[in-house]
Amino acid sequence: MWSIRMRASKSILAEGSGNGEVEEVHISGAEGLWNEEEILKLLEQYLIRALNHSRGKPDKIFFTLEKINEAIIKVPPLPVRTLICNSPEEAKELITNKLLSLGISQRAIEAGLGILLSSTIMRGAALIKSNTGTLSVPDHHRGVRVSRLGIDNETRYRIEKEMSELNVDKRRVIEALTLASKVAHHKDIVAEVCISDDPDYITGYLASKDLGYLRIPNIKRLGEMHGGRVFFINEDSNLKELIYYLEKTPVQIFG
Ligand code: AMP
Repeated sequence: MWSIRMRASKSILAEGSGNGEVEEVHISGAEGLWNEEEILKLLEQYLIRALNHSRGKPDKIFFTLEKINEAIIKVPPLPVRTLICNSPEEAKELITNKLLSLGISQRAIEAGLGILLSSTIMRGAALIKSNTGTLSVPDHHRGVRVSRLGIDNETRYRIEKEMSELNVDKRRVIEALTLASKVAHHKDIVAEVCISDDPDYITGYLASKDLGYLRIPNIKRLGEMHGGRVFFINEDSNLKELIYYLEKTPVQIFG
């Protein structure tokens, strides 16, 4: 199989910079594991997505294609449930209570929510230690980008069919569920919380091996630009091994 990654960004004048300093802002990204005969179709889909994103027009689009030669680990999808939530305030309370129930400290929860609600968008995820709340990523701007992940076609069709009664954006849910299932499978991951950085997509999620994939409607208000992903990790995680798993180990969601 092939790992295909897309990353789109645009350069803007850095805030407060009087000397023309330019910074790159993230517009969109996508990744998946695909068969060789699917590559062309996927490049087109990812390109259309990059050029038509609600965060704006990119001025740089990068594609990375890598042939996967290692064995691909099969991981089952997390079960999906939608919670009742009517506002970002309710979402905050709900997320806090669920994370506390998983043994994550108030301090770590506040650190995580601070990142998710910040106007500075990371390209990847923040790793936060579940007790001390320490941010544990090598690069604070980039975060850790989960890559080399995909979903088996039969599994995708089954989940799409199960969701067909619900009023959901199937592509988004499948992609996020694929990522969340890979992430939750690692022994050092306690939970994940995600808010899309798209101003027109306001359903987020909380995921963990024990709780499954919990969709949270109205996690933010329409038009808001903030978003991000936070992975709460065990305090004594082997960071090098965990980051290698997230970025490099090929995983296919199956079952
Ligand atoms: P999205 O759901 O695509 O709007 O992404 C929401 C946020 O999740 C982004 O702002 C990034 O911070 C983060 N993110 C997106 N894709 C990944 C990925 N592959 N790995 C880690 N974090 C990601």
